Amino acid sequence: MQRIGQGYDIHRLAEGRGLRLACVDIPSTRGPLAHSDGDAVCHALCDAMLGAAALGDMGRHFPSEDARWRDMDSGEFVKQVVSMLAGAGGKVVNVDITIGLESPRLSPFIADMRRNLAGLLGCEPEAVSVKAKSADGLGPVGEGDAVETRAVVLVSFG
Ligand code: MG
Repeated sequence: MQRIGQGYDIHRLAEGRGLRLACVDIPSTRGPLAHSDGDAVCHALCDAMLGAAALGDMGRHFPSEDARWRDMDSGEFVKQVVSMLAGAGGKVVNVDITIGLESPRLSPFIADMRRNLAGLLGCEPEAVSVKAKSADGLGPVGEGDAVETRAVVLVSFG
């Protein structure tokens, strides 16, 4: 059986914070305000995987009140959710991710993001799509105040 899941995340950007997406450190003057490292790609991906297995959401498994997750490398969240999926008999078939960010341009970093996520998910980089879009100056993403990510994942069970 195959099941689909989708995930979404958004973080406010602030001066002087590091920008890390899909476990890639990206040179930027602004980065997400967050309890963990604010990696919106990893967070959306986790929610998509949890959704495919109907296992709840990141807030349930990794509550932001919990000091254990402070400044957490979000790749750890992905690893933990992959093992929850495995416990439910699930394995990721492919993922498709869209990142909304006004600047900097992400194209130089996409290959590293795909490789990192493939390593965490235990699949080939060819099964991991990462796309980047600016928002044409519209809304919080377009105004440079937010980074936003959407993820869709297909999971095979049994
Ligand atoms: Mg988040």
